[in-house]
Order: sequence, then structure tokens, then C-alpha cells
Amino acid sequence: MITKHTYVGGQPRPSGLEPFDKLYPATGEVIAKIEPTSLEQLDEVIAEAAEAQKAWAALSGTERGRVLLRAAKILQDRNEALSRVEVMDVGKAIAEAESGDVPSGPDALEYFGGIARDMPGTFHTYPGAVGFTQRVPLGVCAGIGAWNYPTQIACWKAAPALAAGNAFIHKPSEETPLVAYEIADALTEAGLPSGLFSIVQGDATIGRALCEHPGVAKVSLTGGVDTGKLIIKQSADTLKKVTLELGGKSPLIVFEDANLDDAVGVALSANFYTAGEVCSNGTRVFVHRSIADKFLAEVVRRTASIRVGDPMDRDVHMGALISETHMNKVLEYIEIGKAEGATLSAGGNRVRPQGFENGYFVEPTVFSGCTDNMRIVREEIFGPVMSVLVFDDEDEAVSRANDTFFGLGAGLMTTSLARAHRVADQLQSGSVWVNTYNICPPDLPFGGSKQSGFGRENSRFALEGYTETRSTYIDLNNFEGAY
Ligand code: NAD
Repeated sequence: MITKHTYVGGQPRPSGLEPFDKLYPATGEVIAKIEPTSLEQLDEVIAEAAEAQKAWAALSGTERGRVLLRAAKILQDRNEALSRVEVMDVGKAIAEAESGDVPSGPDALEYFGGIARDMPGTFHTYPGAVGFTQRVPLGVCAGIGAWNYPTQIACWKAAPALAAGNAFIHKPSEETPLVAYEIADALTEAGLPSGLFSIVQGDATIGRALCEHPGVAKVSLTGGVDTGKLIIKQSADTLKKVTLELGGKSPLIVFEDANLDDAVGVALSANFYTAGEVCSNGTRVFVHRSIADKFLAEVVRRTASIRVGDPMDRDVHMGALISETHMNKVLEYIEIGKAEGATLSAGGNRVRPQGFENGYFVEPTVFSGCTDNMRIVREEIFGPVMSVLVFDDEDEAVSRANDTFFGLGAGLMTTSLARAHRVADQLQSGSVWVNTYNICPPDLPFGGSKQSGFGRENSRFALEGYTETRSTYIDLNNFEGAY
């Protein structure tokens, strides 16, 4: 059995602590042992990161960018192998890993590698003086990851942090500790000096230590809302900068003028991609009453063709959920939905595919006849459960869509350009998708509003999150003091 450790400069650092088990979600079997990082080790890792960061920040953006571009190429060349590790980590279908999460990691390295040389400041003139601003790195930054998109989460955080001249320490979720090593190896092979991308392992204990450590300048979390609140509290004593990418219960509004086929396709992928374990999924599907019956019938018909099973099989659409605990939580929500009076229109059961009987699979599930106050409609389930709701007019749809403390994603399906702009403008959400869903190119910011978090990943806004502004004022004349 392979044991994985804290990882610095492409080298393991044993801590001697009792390892925890990493299970394969599709079978429930232990596939690796993971040794948590000790608190003493964390001090070492942070000190080495701080030392390495000085030299890294002194390089030009062009030189830093080249390393990231080389790492992107290495990861792109290894897409298939990397995707297999991602599948072992998450249990998602390999076809998705190969085309979605995994390539999005090198995409981010490529984008930030490209713009590392182009971080302009501002220039100001005064009588006899000039001023200018620069974006300067923060120092040592830390990422704390959720388990649903481990490649993407690590790269979306590390790429802008490194491009801007920081050192980066990544703590993957304890559920998905494996794929980060592939990223670390690619960065090391690309020429990233030791100490600039390190992996620490463990649960909330080590996550909390990262937040409280005075040597860490910034923490970026991808996780649940409650964890986000803890991160702020834990980071308060050191006044750390914080980015929070949290949960959601996002609306998808299907207007009567939508292309019905497209609307059904979008609703299915906005709910069942990665077995519904996507933070921004459009799980509250509001459909105009005039097309509701037709829409639901098509959703149910097409849901029946979703193949659930062996995640390594390229013909499978939906793999396993991350863990038994999480599967039970999703199944419990399905029971809650039934008890609340929603109509179970599709799915609703655990699946035990042949050869994978102990895996954590759940059928794609559709509830219709939902109302806004049901728990399945208000709370994040983070599994393959769609709630269909009916509305009568545009204003009503917008106000019901916004009636949540989350604000991560939102979608609308319409063929009217005017309506697309009008409604998109009113949705309280970090991202709005029109006639598609969950599309996140690296140059477009992604992040939450309301309790879905703050700060942005991707784009130049992410670079801002890993830098601060320094203002320099230069007097061009002799100094005339008052005394
Ligand atoms: P989680 O909040 O339980 O854990 C996330 C990470 O935080 C893990 O690495 C965990 O070890 C760590 N952690 C837990 N307690 C901590 C503490 N007190 N201090 C420091 N670190 C701590 O979330 P999860 O179950 O791994 O992931 C699912 C959640 O993540 C969902 O709510 C989902 O919506 C959200 N998510 C958000 C985004 C986004 O971009 N907005 C993306 C993916 C997932």
C-alpha cells in the first residue's frame, strides 16, 4: 500500500503521524495511506516557502510565467494519466475528468503564465513629482481545497499566486489527497524552485493551523459556507487576507421562449455533471408554467438514459459520490423531499453497479411539484438531485431566484436577447450563464456573492487577490520643509 506524505520541492517529508485512509469512492477500498502534516513540519514548510519566495518575487514576470507555461504543457501531455488519478480521488466519470476538471488546471497555468509579464500599475503626475502604483506579491499564500474538483481547485489558486510572485502551500481535501502530487511534480519538472509549491495533508487541524500561522499572508478556501465562516474567525488574529469560494443553491430559469431541447440539456448538465457535486450547479430549476409539463417529461425521459457505473469506463456518464457519509446525506435529502410532498419524478435510489456494489452511487434524481420553502429547494445537497419549480411571470421568477442567502451561479434559458440582458442584470450572483451553464474560461472571473463567498478566481481579478498595491511618490525637486 502506497503512503503519501507532506511534499516539498517534489520530495516527501515523513511526519511520523498516524496515516489516514484514502478510499476509492467507486469501491470503498483503501487505495492509499496519507500521513498528515505535523504542526512542527508546517513551521518548516512555511519557513522554506518564505525563503524561496524572495528569490521568486525578484524574477521578472516573464521568467515566472515561463515556468507556469512549461508546467501547463507537462500536465496537458499527461491529461489521461492525470485524469485516472483524479478519478481515483473523486470517483467521477473519466470522460468528465479528461474533458473538464483536469484540463482546466493547465488552462489556468497557461493563462496566468501568459499574463505574469503584464501586471500594469498606474502612473500619476503632480507639480514637480510623480507617483506610481505596483502590484506586489503577498508572500506565502495557502490554498485549502474541497474534494469535488481537486485539480482545478489547486491550479486555480496556485497559478495566480505563483504568477504574481508568491509561494503557495496547498492543503487538498482529506477526501482527495492524491492528484495534487501530480501537479507538484509537473511544477518541479518545469523548473519551479523548491519551496514554492508544497503540499500539506490533513483535515481541519492543519487547515486551522494554516489560517492561524503568522507566516501565511493569505488563505483561499474552496469549501462550505460554515467552513468559510470559521476561516474568517481563525484568520482574524493575524488579519490574513481571505478568499472564500463557498457553496450554492443556484437557480436556472427556463422561460417560455427558450429552445426546449437546449433547456432540457442544460438543466441535465447543470444538475448531474460530476454526480451533482458542483458548487455552482443550477439545482433550483424554475420553468414557465406554459412549458412545464413538456419540459418535465423530456427531463425525465433523458434522465433515464444517464449511465451510472464504473467511473473508469468511458461510456459511463456518472460515477460515484465522494464517500459513504456524503452518499447517505444525499439519500437522506431524497427522503426529506418525499416527506415534504415533492413528487419524485425520476431516480431516488442508491445504485449498486455490478462489480462496484460497495461504491457510493446514487441515481440521477428529479423532484417536481417543488415549492420554495422545501428544504430540498433551500439547502445545498451537493448530489444528483434536481428540484423543478413552476413560475408564471418574469418578475416573479427573478425574485424567487434571488430569495436565497447563496449567490454563486445563476442561469437563464431564453431566445430573447433583451430578456437575457434584463434578467441577467437582476440576478444576485457572481456568475450568470445564458443558454448554457457552468462555463468558466480562465479569463472570466468566477466567485460568489452573498454567503457564497468573496474574492474571485480566474482572470486579472484573481491576480489582484494575490497581490497588494504599493504606491510610490517621487519628489523631483529639493525638499522644502517647514522647519
Ligand atoms: P468543507 O468545507 O467541509 O471542506 C473544505 C476544506 O476545508 C477541506 O480541505 C477541509 O479539510 C477544510 N477545513 C474544514 N474545516 C476547516 C477549518 N476549521 N479550518 C481550515 N480548514 C478547514 O467542504 P467539502 O465538503 O470539502 O466541499 C464541499 C463544499 O465546497 C460545498 O459546499 C461546495 O459548494 C463547496 N465548493 C465551492 C466551490 C466554489 O468555487 N465556490 C467549488 C467547489 C466546492
